[in-house]
Formats: sequence, structure tokens, C-alpha cells
Amino acid sequence: MKSIKGKRIVIIGSGFGGLGAACLLARAGASVTILEKNEQTGGRASVFEADGFRFDMGPSWYLMPDVFSQFFQLLGEREEDYFELERLSPSYRIFFKDTERFVDIYSDRDKDRATIESLEVGAAEKLDRYLERAKQQYEIAVRDFMYKNYRSIFDFFTWRVVTQGTKLSVFTKMQTYVARYFKSEEMQKILQYPLVFLGSSPYNTPALYNIMSHIDFRMGVFYPKRGFHAVIEALQTIAEKDGTTIRLNSEVDEIVTENGIAKAVRLATGEEIEADVVISNADMYHTEMHLLKEKKDRSFSQRYWDKRVMAPSALVLYLGVKGEIPSLRHHTLLFSKDWQKNFGEIFEHPAWPEDPSLYVCNPSKTDDVAPSGHENLFVLVPIAAGLAYDDAPLKSYTEKILTTMENHMDIPDLRKRIVYKRTFCVDDFAARYNSYKGSALGLAHTLSQTAAFRPDTKSKKVKNLYYVGAGTNPGIGMPVCLISAQLVYKRLTGDRSAGALEEL
Ligand SMILES: Cc1cc2nc3c(=O)[nH]c(=O)nc-3n(C[C@H](O)[C@H](O)[C@H](O)COP(=O)(O)OP(=O)(O)OC[C@H]3O[C@@H](n4cnc5c(N)ncnc54)[C@H](O)[C@@H]3O)c2cc1C
Repeated sequence: MKSIKGKRIVIIGSGFGGLGAACLLARAGASVTILEKNEQTGGRASVFEADGFRFDMGPSWYLMPDVFSQFFQLLGEREEDYFELERLSPSYRIFFKDTERFVDIYSDRDKDRATIESLEVGAAEKLDRYLERAKQQYEIAVRDFMYKNYRSIFDFFTWRVVTQGTKLSVFTKMQTYVARYFKSEEMQKILQYPLVFLGSSPYNTPALYNIMSHIDFRMGVFYPKRGFHAVIEALQTIAEKDGTTIRLNSEVDEIVTENGIAKAVRLATGEEIEADVVISNADMYHTEMHLLKEKKDRSFSQRYWDKRVMAPSALVLYLGVKGEIPSLRHHTLLFSKDWQKNFGEIFEHPAWPEDPSLYVCNPSKTDDVAPSGHENLFVLVPIAAGLAYDDAPLKSYTEKILTTMENHMDIPDLRKRIVYKRTFCVDDFAARYNSYKGSALGLAHTLSQTAAFRPDTKSKKVKNLYYVGAGTNPGIGMPVCLISAQLVYKRLTGDRSAGALEEL
């Protein structure tokens, strides 16, 4: 293994990927500096407080607890020394707009059985078979895909992956795959909705990603007390303990290169910081097309980006509400009637969704994040990346969403009870995170943007430039970005293994 002791490593961005990489590299003896453009660490997992409410700005589902635990153990740390995890029960509630009914999912085989049967006769037994396969696929993914750096597509299409993958239909489209098992639209929607976590649609995503159902139905849904920034603060504390310097309000304007080698980064203020290695945790398009000033240093052309499928952006509402909202759980989803039309408006022909699906997080059900006698809501409506708009349509669409919640989530007087409201939409994602087309999540997980086909963790053109976070492998999601940090560590230390790191 190559030593990285004493190397000057500059990381652009302090999201899960950037902080995760800092923890690993600083622990291994590198001299790490993180440069973050915003006023706080965390990237998409930022937090803000207003009028006594505390709002997580982005992630709200703590999934894949095994991946978080592996990461902390690798560092010789324990999550419980930093934050308290609570398993949610139920995991979530779903309202179906077309039938006006709701179900609670507990991620517990016995508790969920009757619910599943009520949606489709015989579905409970089919779900057992479906999830058994999803479990096998999850195990293959962890062993063969997720913790692996790809040097060519042959690293992806290994004999084992091709034979086992074909047997398990992982290359079939998700919609087709789920329809083979379940006839009712409600069951199909329940098994397809987790794709939204990956910024994808069942019509363009391989069934490989039904591993999400194993994660959702069998592993359970957790919540870190004090919110998701508590996890970011844990990573920050660990990184700083090993000497990482974090500079906030420090926007990088250029990765300075000489003959295909990154020599330094230049801040917007003009200050230059020298580096032996540069790792960008910033948006991949932003890094390639804005921070690398010369075409010859870019791994991808504008033409490449024009053909990419971006994950949706979102309209997010942060609401402070007076009084209790009994119809909501910690996580509540509302599924639209015409799923195909809704995904069409998000991916094919961008428009404000006419009949939107939406998601509401109500963390005050579990945590002390609102003033007494109030509740704290985070409402997320997936919207096409790059959607152009101005104030008036944004305002009227926000009203439409609040009316939809009143009518279909059993909160008849919601608007009258709102005491705090902040709106965050496509342009805000672009401005706050330098996100391409204002996507909330980055590159979608289509087959041609997965594994060996996704931008690599290492630049093809600049020798000592690396990428970490949702834009590279394995992809979107907090735990997945922590895996990405391990991939960069492996690249820098010359570790070619396929599985999770066992020691630093
Ligand atoms: C609304 C929303 C809900 C989500 N829900 C979930 C969920 O429930 N569960 C889950 O697991 N995941 C969820 N995700 C996805 C998850 O949050 C992201 O995949 C993950 O946090 C991305 O981390 P990252 O390492 O890619 O960095 P990011 O979080 O994207 O951070 C990158 C950092 O780089 C900084 N930066 C950009 N340009 C520059 C520059 N030029 N100079 C300096 N700094 C720069 C940015 O300010 C930012 O802080 C959600 C995301 C969003 C937006």
C-alpha cells in the first residue's frame, strides 16, 4: 500500500463525501484542509433555525445503518458516542390519492403482513419472495459493486455479475420487474417509491436498485436525535481530532493545474492554497466545467453533460405549524394517481407536476425541534431539474401543494396554522450547492450512469485530482457518500480490493 502520511490534501466541499474522506485520510496521517463555500459544514445535510424551529435542510431518512456502522468502526469510533439513533415505528405512512386510504409500514414482516394482504390478495407471500431476492441482490451489491473502484467496464461486467445478475434480472427495468410480482398499483408504487431516494424513475432504472426495498422493508428506518446535522458534526469532530483544518465561507474558484497536475486551488478571494492532492466533493459538473479552466484538464465535455439524466430538483417547504397534526407520522408520503404522468413531468417534459406525489417529514413527532405546542414540517415535492420559473408560479404552486396536503393528508386547516414558512426550489439548489441544473441529488441512477458508467473517483486528465460524493461512485445518499470516501482512500493508497475497507 502507498503511504499518504504528510501529503497535503485539499478537499473542496464539506458534504458527507468530503468530511468522510477527511476522516479517513487525516486518520492515516495526511495533512487535510477542507474548503467550504457555505457558512456551515454538511452540504445538502445543512441545518437552520428560525423562530424556535430547527430544520434539517436535506436528508431525513437514515437508511443502511450497517454502512454507517462500518464507517465509524473503521475509524475505531462508535456512533453512540456522538448521536442517539432511534428506530421509527411505523417507518412511514402512505396516503394513496386515488383510493383516499392510507397504510402504515413498519419494516417488520409480521406487522406488515395484514397491510400488504389488504392491498392485494396473496401479496404478503409474494413480498417475502421479492424481498428474499432483494436481499441476495443487496449482498451482491455490497460484495461486488458498491465498494469497488472501476478502471474499465470489464471491472463491472465480471463473469459472476453477468451470470448472477441475469439470473436475478438486475438489468430489467424496475417497472417491468415489479409488475411481474404485483398486479395492484398500490403494491407497485410501494416497491418503486424508494427509487426517488436515488433520484430515479421506475421507467429508466435497472431492477438492480430493488435493493432499496430490502433496505426499506427489512433493515428499518432510523432517526438520529438532534437531526441529521448531528451526524455531520460527528464526522467533523473526528476529522478535526486528527488535525483536519476546515475553512468555511471559502469558495474555490479554480483548481490550478500545470502539465496535467493539480498544484493548488485558488479561492474566489484570489488566495492560493498549495496541494499534493486535490479532492473535489463539489458538484461534478461545477468542478469539471467551472473549476478546471482549461478544456484539456476536463474528463467530460459539454456534450457528455448534455446527454446526462439529472436527478430531480425539488420544491422544499420548511413549515412551522401551530398545534398537533394527528394524521402525520414522522415520515408520510402522498402518492399521486397517475404515476407515469408524474414521472414524465419530472424527467421527460419538465413542468410543475399537475398531480404531484409528495413527502412530508414531521421530526417533531420524535424530537424536540419545535417550540412547545408546535410542529415542524419538511415538505418535499420532486420537480424537474433545470425547470425555469419566477416568483408568481412558485407562489401559486406552493399554494397548490398546501391545498393538496389539506385535502389528501387530512390536515384541513393547515394554511391557517402556519406560523413560519420558507421555500427552497431549483434556483436555490443551484445557488447554495453549485448544483448543475439545480438538481437536488446530482446524476440519476440510470443503467448508463451506474458503476463503471458513472464518473469515476479519479480524473482521467489531471493526475492528482479525485472526486468524492454523490456525483461519483457509488452515488446518491448519505451512507453511499461515505462509501465513496472509502473509494477515494483506496485510490490514494493503491488498494484494489472489491469489498469494504477493513482497516486504515
Ligand atoms: C432535499 C434532500 C433530501 C434528501 N434525502 C435523503 C435521505 O433522506 N437520505 C439520504 O441518505 N440521502 C438523502 N439525500 C441525499 C444526500 O443528502 C446527498 O446524496 C449527500 O448528502 C450528498 O453529499 P455529497 O458528499 O455529495 O456532498 P454535498 O452535500 O453535495 O456537499 C458538497 C459541498 O460542496 C460545497 N461546494 C460546492 N462548490 C464549492 C466550491 N466551489 N468551493 C467550495 N465548496 C463548494 C457545497 O457548498 C457543499 O457543501 C437528500 C438530498 C436532498 C437535497
